[in-house]
Formats: sequence, C-alpha cells, structure tokens
Amino acid sequence: MSKPVILTGLRANNDLHLGNYLGALLPMVDMAKQHAGEYQINLFVPDLHSFTTPVDHSKLFDQILQNLKVFAAAGLPLEHEDIHIYRQSFITAHSELTWILDCFTGFGEMSRMTQFKDKSAKLSQDRISVGLFNYPVLMAADILLYGASYVPVGDDQTQHLEFTRDIAERMNKQFGDLFVVPKPVTEQHTFFGKEQGLRVKDLVDPTKKMSKSDETGTGVIFLTDNASVARKKIMSATTDSLGKISYDTTNQPGVSNLLQILGLLANKSLEAVAKEYAGQSQYGALKEAVSTAVVDFLSDFQTKLAAVDEHALLNKLAASEQTMNQTASQTLHKAQQAVGLRPKGQ
Ligand code: ATP
Ligand code: MG
Repeated sequence: MSKPVILTGLRANNDLHLGNYLGALLPMVDMAKQHAGEYQINLFVPDLHSFTTPVDHSKLFDQILQNLKVFAAAGLPLEHEDIHIYRQSFITAHSELTWILDCFTGFGEMSRMTQFKDKSAKLSQDRISVGLFNYPVLMAADILLYGASYVPVGDDQTQHLEFTRDIAERMNKQFGDLFVVPKPVTEQHTFFGKEQGLRVKDLVDPTKKMSKSDETGTGVIFLTDNASVARKKIMSATTDSLGKISYDTTNQPGVSNLLQILGLLANKSLEAVAKEYAGQSQYGALKEAVSTAVVDFLSDFQTKLAAVDEHALLNKLAASEQTMNQTASQTLHKAQQAVGLRPKGQ
C-alpha cells in the first residue's frame, strides 16, 4: 500500500519574508519532520503560479532555486525518502491536466473566488490575467495528480480546496473512480492542528500583513535583508502616540506586531513579552529589543543558508522530479483516457 500523500507549496514570486518564515516555512518543515515515515510529503514550488501577478522574469528561475535553498536552511530533512521537492513546471502534467479540468469548470464558479476578487482589485484592469482567474484550477491539478489527501490550507485557500473537492467529485461521477478526493477543510484543520491565524504585520502599515509582493517593501523584513537594513526598518516601524505598551491589535496594531515578533523569535509567550514591557511609556527599548532579535535571527539564518549543500539539493530535486513525473503522468493518462483522448485499457 502506498502512503497517504500530504502536499504543500510556497509561491516563488519574490524573496521570502519573516512572516512567510514564521507562518509557513517553519510549520511546513515541522510538519514534514513529524509525518515523514507514515506519509509521503510533496513539498513543491508552484512556479507556474509565480506570475499570475506581475514578477521580475529575469530573476524568477534563480528565485525558485533560492526558495528551495531556504527550505533546506530552515531544516527540511532532504535525505528522507518520503520527502519530495519539485518544481511544478518541470512536471508538464500539471499544465495538461489543468486544461482538461478547465473544460469541466464553470465560469461562474471561478468568478466567486474571493482571492481573485481581492488580488484583482489591487491590479489595473490590463494587468488582471486569465491566469490569475484560472489559478484555482491549476491548484486542483497540483493536488489531484498525486492523489493528495492532506493539504494544509489557511483561510485564503479554503475556497480553492473546496473547489478541488468539487471538481474531483464531478469528474468521478461522470467517469468513475478517477481522482482521490482530498479531505474536507475541517478534517485538514484537525489533521494539521496548526495555529492557522498567525500573521506578521507590515511594519509601515500594521493593519495589513507583511506580503512579499508589497510594492515598496519598506515594512517587510526579507530573509535576505542585511543587519543595517533590517534594523532601520524596525526602528522606523509605525507605532502610535498612546504612550503605553500593551498587546491590543485594535488600538495598538504596531506595538502589538512588535510584541508578537519578539515573542516568536525569543520563543516566549505573548503574555510574557507584554508583561516585560508593561508600564513603559517609551517605545525605544521595545524597538531596540526587536531589532536585536531580528538581526540575530537573520544572521543565524543567513549563515545556515550559505552552508546549504547546493549539490545535494540539486540531486534531490532531480530525483524527486523524476519520481513525481511518473506518478503525475499516470494520473494524467487516466484522465486522458476518461475524456477520450487516449484509448481505453492501455
Ligand atoms: P504575495 O504578496 O505574493 O501573496 P505573501 O507574502 O502573501 O506573498 P504567499 O505566497 O501568499 O505569501 O503565502 C505563502 C505562505 O506564507 C502562506 O502559507 C501564507 O499563509 C504565509 N504568509 C504570508 N504572509 C504571512 C504573514 N505576514 N505572516 C504569516 N504568514 C504569512
Ligand atoms: Mg499572499
């Protein structure tokens, strides 16, 4: 019996930031360490998803490899045989299955996707691509090609997972047992048991989250920032004029974000950190402490990143891509047979 499949990916459209690290990378690496052995872990770079919104194409290829290195630096056990790392575009079945699924997807059902509405609202009309509209279908192909049952999803992805279940059930109903239907969202949450809501906020506008596609990046701590850049960003973080330090995301979003970052990096609870600064009316000491914690973290992380064995990483990537191509091609072939593109029974 093959092992149940867990699948997760991280879009490579820019350098990763502190929020991605604390909110996505670390949980992914922990999850992989915890479940490898009993489950197959597919950890892939959805590179075809990278340019659903505009990116610098001259940097994309290197960015993708860089992100894989970041996983290694964050402690992903590459040597484990149950862990597979691969680039989506190197497995052409993703694009091919997407087209087939597209033709069974309603225009109305894609139009209801809130992430499309949110992301397209931030772009000028001529930059809103069909790729952005269509990307949940590619995501469905990403999942269905490998028969993945478990896919960790945050709030922004639940609708897409539900769509994946719908399209899989729809095709299974019409063509017989074609796809493994991933578990429903509630079961995903039970299985991963992760804190879903962690959001590191932008330092300039702490009412919104840090995002790698942010236009200026001045409120974003990138994992590649050097000490002086990072320090400057923290020291000029937006706070307020209330003259007190408390964890209160409504009235003190900036201060609360600093407390959260400090707690996460120092491995202390929010209550403990807030208590340390309670009663202080100046924000300088808090900013100093956060600067030091961030700079220490970056220096440690960048040392690990520089030490990643690139040769071993590329070997692992090539091996995984070969294995995953086989699995994905088999699923694609079944779908091609079902819709009448290939003869049955071969
Ligand atoms: P983009 O601006 O391109 O959407 P992003 O920074 O929002 O980039 P995503 O690629 O959308 O990053 O998400 C990658 C992962 O990082 C997801 O699991 C997401 O939940 C997590 N993540 C993104 N931003 C934050 C944040 N500020 N704090 C915690 N986790 C985050
Ligand atoms: Mg995002």
